[in-house]
Amino acid sequence: MHCSRCQSPVPEVAHFCHHCGQDLVSGDERGRRRFAVQPDEPVASFALISSIMPREAGRHPQTYRTAFTITLVVALVAAIFGALPIAVLIAAFAIPIVYITYLYDVNLWEDAPLAVTGLAFGLTGLVAALFTALWTGLLPLTTTLRGPNGDLLGGPQWGTFLILAILVPVVGEAIRQVGPVLLASRPAFDDLMDGVTFGVVSGVAYACFDTLVRHWALLTGGLVAPQPAQFASLVFLEGFVKPLVMGTATGLAVAEFSGLGKGYDGFTPRYFGGVGLAVGTNVLYATGIYLLGYVGSPNVALPLQAMWGLLILGGLIIRLRTVLQTGLMEGALEAAAKAEQPVDAEQGFCVRCEMPLLPGSAFCSACGVSMRARAKAPVLAATAATPTAAGDAPPPEPDEGQTVVPVDESDVEEEK
Ligand SMILES: [Zn+2]
Ligand SMILES: [Zn+2]
Repeated sequence: MHCSRCQSPVPEVAHFCHHCGQDLVSGDERGRRRFAVQPDEPVASFALISSIMPREAGRHPQTYRTAFTITLVVALVAAIFGALPIAVLIAAFAIPIVYITYLYDVNLWEDAPLAVTGLAFGLTGLVAALFTALWTGLLPLTTTLRGPNGDLLGGPQWGTFLILAILVPVVGEAIRQVGPVLLASRPAFDDLMDGVTFGVVSGVAYACFDTLVRHWALLTGGLVAPQPAQFASLVFLEGFVKPLVMGTATGLAVAEFSGLGKGYDGFTPRYFGGVGLAVGTNVLYATGIYLLGYVGSPNVALPLQAMWGLLILGGLIIRLRTVLQTGLMEGALEAAAKAEQPVDAEQGFCVRCEMPLLPGSAFCSACGVSMRARAKAPVLAATAATPTAAGDAPPPEPDEGQTVVPVDESDVEEEK
């Protein structure tokens, strides 16, 4: 039997083509396609974990889901009872901490944790803190638009609007791109999955320090008279919606930088399109939050702001899943057409369904999961292959004393 999409020979019993990931049983049902990162979910879905944690779809998705839920509930309870320093701290650090735990879980930094956290989290965070301190210092911004009785303090102002909804999102996105792009242009981290992940790290780092600086007064102010709805909404938006909007938007753009197959694509028109989309969604988000703040009473404005944030986040998640799906499927088709060994050829057993894999599999022929969505192999297992790993890939920079072994590349180079 031959695959209808890439024409390569496949076993009669295969459910998915192990070269290009085509569903051989139900054919290509557009719109209801299975997500190659997590085949039991459709591509068009709001599933957060498998979108922002694509490697092994977050090895323990339930753990991450629980961690997000618990921190959200604790932060909301703290906010409702007026313990704002605690609420703001949790809101700022919850998602970054959970996400860095995920990086550790899937060994994404390939034993170079300092380079990865330093560039993707530290650099973005530091510059974000400086930038936010700068513009909040120049602008007499109040953390809330309303006085103690819930009445509005004046109406929208052009100057504030231009800084808050245009300047900050544009400069902010530029800041968020630097670290992940530097990382994604290293040979050890040039895969699409890495690009997405570094983008998300950078986005949540920016959001974290943006929250800390903007709400410094609340953070150091001690207990305040509870204004449950207002504080809960603030914590929900700043601690959970904002980091995820920034993270997915930046992840999308860096994914286009990493591109499809081997190596990274670099500064292509698609990358600049991705950056444009990221800037655009951040402008939309900030505009909506700012203007909706002036709608009627807080009881109307706050739910509207939350809904606006979730709407934008939902759109971003769908877009990110589409980019991942396209990257995995098209990259594999290209590799199959050139009859080259897939970038992440894997032997042995599928980590997801534990069925045996065919030689040179890019996808599991039983469950359809992409091999590129697996966790990175531990470095020790690949040390034997290092001498042949030089090839066209520049050697890892000697600074920082790291011992990066480009696992994926070494496997490919050996085949030549
Ligand atoms: Zn195929
Ligand atoms: Zn499988």
